[in-house]
Amino acid sequence: MGPARGPHAMKLHYAIRPANAGAHLFHVTVTVGRPSAEGQLFMLPAWIPGSYMIREFARNIVQVAALAGDERVPVEKLDKHTWRVPALGDFEGPLTLVYEVYAWDASVRAALLDTTLGFFNATSVFLLPLGWEDARVEVDILPPEGDYAAGWRVATGLAPARGTKRHAFGTYTARDYDELIDCPVLMGELALARFDVLGTPHEIVIAGRVPDLDLERLSADLARVCAQQIELFEPATRRAPFARYTFLTLAVGEGYGGLEHRNSTALICKRDDLPYRGMADTTEGYRRFLGLASHEYFHAWNVKRIRPAAFVPYALERENYTRLLWLFEGFTSYYDDLLLARAGLITRPQYFGLLARNFNEVLAASGRRKQSLTESSFDAWIKYYRQDENSPNAIVSYYQKGALVALALDLAIRVRSGGKRSLDDLMRLLWARYTEAGEDYAGVHEEEIGELITEATGVVLDDELAAWTEGTADPDFGALLAPFGLLFTTKPLRESAARALLGLKLAPGAEPRIAQVFDGGAAQAAGLSAGDLLVALDGLRITSASLDAMLHRRRPGQRVEVLAFRRDQLLPFELTLIDSAPPQVELAAADKPTGKAKKLLERWLS
Ligand code: ZN
Repeated sequence: MGPARGPHAMKLHYAIRPANAGAHLFHVTVTVGRPSAEGQLFMLPAWIPGSYMIREFARNIVQVAALAGDERVPVEKLDKHTWRVPALGDFEGPLTLVYEVYAWDASVRAALLDTTLGFFNATSVFLLPLGWEDARVEVDILPPEGDYAAGWRVATGLAPARGTKRHAFGTYTARDYDELIDCPVLMGELALARFDVLGTPHEIVIAGRVPDLDLERLSADLARVCAQQIELFEPATRRAPFARYTFLTLAVGEGYGGLEHRNSTALICKRDDLPYRGMADTTEGYRRFLGLASHEYFHAWNVKRIRPAAFVPYALERENYTRLLWLFEGFTSYYDDLLLARAGLITRPQYFGLLARNFNEVLAASGRRKQSLTESSFDAWIKYYRQDENSPNAIVSYYQKGALVALALDLAIRVRSGGKRSLDDLMRLLWARYTEAGEDYAGVHEEEIGELITEATGVVLDDELAAWTEGTADPDFGALLAPFGLLFTTKPLRESAARALLGLKLAPGAEPRIAQVFDGGAAQAAGLSAGDLLVALDGLRITSASLDAMLHRRRPGQRVEVLAFRRDQLLPFELTLIDSAPPQVELAAADKPTGKAKKLLERWLS
């Protein structure tokens, strides 16, 4: 059932107002010019693209009413996220749904409103009238009711309509619903800076108080990493795939995350991670922020435009299964830090340190032997996104191991092509496939990655690809890094005695409660479990603060008795201590690399 003809009837109209900041409520209307004669359905997405979990945003929709012209008409619920206004005889329109949305999710995935800021994704607030997927969209973003918002501005990837100034409340437009849900909106007292990258306007926008924020440095650093990315994908034209780009940022006390969009990203970070005037170094927190921004920006090509076939188009009411998140998230994770190094924002030793940390985090958990990257991608909806105490023993991260596989592929391609080709060539081929296909783009298929690598680079890596992504093998990084003059070494390291000798992790806090029990450790062998509260070791009281010191005095092979509460029952456990800490990886440049190695390293990192 399509919408009525005619330019006005084709338009889908929304209005949203922060109506009650104290109760965290947006007031929303959606109006269709002419409702379906069989009864008009309205649905809200169950998930937001980029975050692979069913979130059932419809649970935050409150008090839905329908108006045919000015007259109230019935509206009924069909399933958890679909409403229906029954057929209205010869009523031609317009039909409006009026409702409230509860917005109190301090993440970049949903909606948030209080007296300091407002933020929303359309997937949380705008019901889609079925049959109107392709209609042009107009959104009135209305100012809050209340004095607190006198200085508020609006930032979004949506285009302002004629008569609305950028960053002002007013009317914004989207080509269709798909574009609408890809343009989150941030409002509040915003710190804002504009910068150009190779001729394309960009802006960084920050909500939340950040004392002495150094916007000039932030803009300059972001511009460098953005330029690296545009030049990677479009070395000839140096053209960005969007007309402008916005980094929307929520600065908070504690928080970290980002969500990618086609011409913007929504980021949440610690305010302390952002640079302040006079800050001399790149702090670990600021590097983390730049890495996050770099990651989400890379997604503007890799996953927002180059997509897995399963996302063409997105099905918003259910899970969209793909076995390729190791490519779309893993490769993006590989390039996010690599491009900071290429942009000169981190030093080479810093970059090697980040790689070593990723090696160690992947190697630390036995789950990588039980789940492949393709399985991890496929089950993201129920496993990676819904982690529990057993996750380290059961799953592998398609981000972290995916990034290591990207590294391995890149190194192998560089060596086997004599330094002439790299993973960058694969990214450019994927990008060319997208730009050449236009409206006919069908996405990337799981089985074609090996062929695409060969087409882009002339190198055949089918067997390695199968072993690393469909199987659970680890690339041989010592051998892969050696031609670049890099030493990959492992050594035993006890970062925590409890982790090493008991094979468990405590929950944060003063109470020594077990958060996770690792495969192959003493705790698991003795039957200790997540949730158990440790009480005593060999008759002495265990506290979170004392456990490591108690274990430092002991050696593998020794037997100890542990008392622990399981639920409310005190149980004894006999443990034989085992050193189960994985070896720690270090990565460093060799003292005297060959000329060939130096050349390979230069090409890779600059
Ligand atoms: Zn990502």
